Amino acid sequence: MKAVFFDRDNTLTHDEGYCHLVADFKWLEGAPEALKRLKDHNILVFIVTNQGGIGREFFTQDDMELFHSHLKEQALLAGGEITDIAFCPHHPKAVTPDMRACECRKPQAGMFYALAEKWDIDLENSVMIGDRQSDVSAGEAAGMASYLSDPASCLDRLVSHVITTHFSDSH
Ligand SMILES: [Zn+2]
Repeated sequence: MKAVFFDRDNTLTHDEGYCHLVADFKWLEGAPEALKRLKDHNILVFIVTNQGGIGREFFTQDDMELFHSHLKEQALLAGGEITDIAFCPHHPKAVTPDMRACECRKPQAGMFYALAEKWDIDLENSVMIGDRQSDVSAGEAAGMASYLSDPASCLDRLVSHVITTHFSDSH
């Protein structure tokens, strides 16, 4: 199976830094439409997100899980579907040393490999979309076509282009 992988913060949702409260949830322009478009094309959607705020102890994994439940629910309400979310809780400045180094924090590709293994995804024919160079580098490290999104532009327009370019044989 092929899939589209998204970064979360400032790619799908608005973020002013370490966003983790449901009350702060806000889609970026075109994000719900993009998720619906992918669902309409039967294309699986995953999120791969660095959540170093957990390692830095700015918020807990439970906080993040609540935010993700809300995010998945909002995606369903928009006619889309987020199949799974991989996160990296580590950070070079984490409070405890064992949370500092890892193989999952983007630009590393660990989260993509974990999702590909779990869901039997063909990474070479999948696509990564994110607003940072580290997203593009991580996607490329995993062998995917990778796109830099602009948080100020309509995400649905980019996703429409991605579907035409990479998923025209999907039914
Ligand atoms: Zn990690």
